[in-house]
Amino acid sequence: MKFDVLTLFPEMVEDYFKYSILKRALNSKIIELNTINPRDFTLNKHKKVDDTPYGGGAGMVLMPQPYVDAYESIPKSDKSITIMLSPQGEPMNEKIVNDLAQYNQIILLCGHYEGFDERIREIIKPKEISLGDFVLTGGELPALCIIDAVSRKLEGTLGKIESAQNDSFSDGLLEYPQYTKPRDFRGLKVPDVLLNGNHKEIEEFRMSERIKRTKLRRPDLLA
Ligand code: SAM
Repeated sequence: MKFDVLTLFPEMVEDYFKYSILKRALNSKIIELNTINPRDFTLNKHKKVDDTPYGGGAGMVLMPQPYVDAYESIPKSDKSITIMLSPQGEPMNEKIVNDLAQYNQIILLCGHYEGFDERIREIIKPKEISLGDFVLTGGELPALCIIDAVSRKLEGTLGKIESAQNDSFSDGLLEYPQYTKPRDFRGLKVPDVLLNGNHKEIEEFRMSERIKRTKLRRPDLLA
């Protein structure tokens, strides 16, 4: 899977790949990262990428020329999808992550300041994805969230020990409560059933906890 990220702040994105599971996935070539800075595509001598909005109003709007030229410079594969990070997009969820994991190239357009000139949308026609109903300063964090969540779905990214099999949302339920050592912490004890070695009972306990927890916290998932 190749991730091409259009961003004015490439280091913000690249730094995330220096740690933990994504670092390993990058090193073992399960994923590939390429950052493209629209500032490198400006045609004005001050390398300006934004300007004031027509019609007035606060903030600076990202100009179409550097973004469209930067986007068009990216070689596209046969199974490629382009995503614009936007608070106006479809809210991110597990289904979108699973769908995205079927592509072999994901191009991510990160906005900043007041966001994109509308013509960038009209020309590139990306799928727009939102991280939720709130506004961030830039698209880099949501882009990294997509990259992280999609990478976990790719074969080989997670070791056996980190399996995603029982993760929340993997089959529509939230995960069961997890415990590790010690058995007793400040008087709070690990449930006996997890200590008795009876795998069938453990499975049943975990499934009933998953249902209970989902009913309580996310009844919408059960529906
Ligand atoms: N003026 C825009 C609006 O009200 O729709 C918001 C611009 S926001 C300050 C700057 C950039 O951050 C956006 O272009 C987008 O790339 C990113 N961004 C902010 N909130 C986001 C969210 N909830 N999901 C995805 N991207 C977001």
